[in-house]
Amino acid sequence: MATPAQARVDLAAIERNVALLKERAGGAELMGAVKADAYGHGLVPCSEAVLAGGASRLGTAFVREALALREAGVTAPVLSWIIGPDEPIAEALEADVELSASAETTLDEIAAAARRTGRTARMHLEADTGMSRGGAPLAAWPGLLDRAVRLQAEGVIEIIGLWSHFACADIPGHPSIGAQLDAFEAALKLAEQAGAGGSHVIRHLANSAAILTLPRSRFDMVRAGIAMYGLSPVPELGDFGLRPAMTLLARLALVKQVPAGSGVSYGHLHVTESETRLGLVPLGYADGVLRHATGRAEVLAGGRRRPVTGRVCMDQFMIDLDDDLLAEGEEVVLFGPGGRGEPTAQEWADNLGTITHEIVTRIGARVPRVHVRDSQE
Ligand SMILES: *Cc1c(COP(=O)(O)O)cnc(C)c1O
Repeated sequence: MATPAQARVDLAAIERNVALLKERAGGAELMGAVKADAYGHGLVPCSEAVLAGGASRLGTAFVREALALREAGVTAPVLSWIIGPDEPIAEALEADVELSASAETTLDEIAAAARRTGRTARMHLEADTGMSRGGAPLAAWPGLLDRAVRLQAEGVIEIIGLWSHFACADIPGHPSIGAQLDAFEAALKLAEQAGAGGSHVIRHLANSAAILTLPRSRFDMVRAGIAMYGLSPVPELGDFGLRPAMTLLARLALVKQVPAGSGVSYGHLHVTESETRLGLVPLGYADGVLRHATGRAEVLAGGRRRPVTGRVCMDQFMIDLDDDLLAEGEEVVLFGPGGRGEPTAQEWADNLGTITHEIVTRIGARVPRVHVRDSQE
């Protein structure tokens, strides 16, 4: 490792996870969600692995993320689902990026860009079936459908998808799950009646948790995110045979002996009880090691777990090495698949009161992503 720290990403693990999800999706198509730099794992190499694993489409939150894929030469269908103000819609159409609309105003804006560029916008219409985030609420859904059908007749858009998103698929048995499924089926029926349906239109609802726990939610396509990266979408149900792709590593930048009674790091939250050795890990909250990990998380160094000792700083934190004679350059594993005794991203998430999505997406731009293929252990 030539850098002080790195996030090592096993592309073979991603491929295998995607293949597993594709199998669980039955005959449905699989869209890989690669938003937020492929959940912090590196957009382009991971997108290629996702496609190699059996995904036929990619999904991003923002158009700029989709354009980055096109610039890298990725030609697979890509959908972007958040169309905010000043989105580069014309560029999206020129680059064959599929777009989503939840409101007639968005459709109109996209239609205007389509007329300007002479490109037909390939559109997915989003229904709000109970999450109250994106999507047209039930009352606005017929209006959105009518507008879309008129624009389709004009030739400026083509309706290729109808979709929605679950609020609680990761809480098995939550009453909203059945309600959202029913609402989605009702929304599809309305689309059919409005002339926005048809066998070529891709119906999609399921995220990772739904793919693995709700066969009824598959429809024509599923949208996998966290599970492709090997992290469980429903940790209380286990790991589903997924393998975590990311290992976050650093090398000790300094090792030193300090006397008993030494206050460690900002605020002296930790005071050494006896003479001990401290190691400096060159990763901090600017790199995604949350300040909240202070006193809560552990790392693996020299074959043993060591607590994060004292406050996590912007660029560094300390670990207590006891009497172990580890030297500068010693490898420290913050988290990984877990097979060597290192903590997992799930353990970090549990200790920090969050979800693994936040642990991996927060890893900062300063940490190089190094892509490898070593899933065999
Ligand atoms: C992020 C996202 C997904 C993937 O969700 P996971 O829970 O990570 O599988 C699917 N669909 C949409 C709209 C998303 O924003």
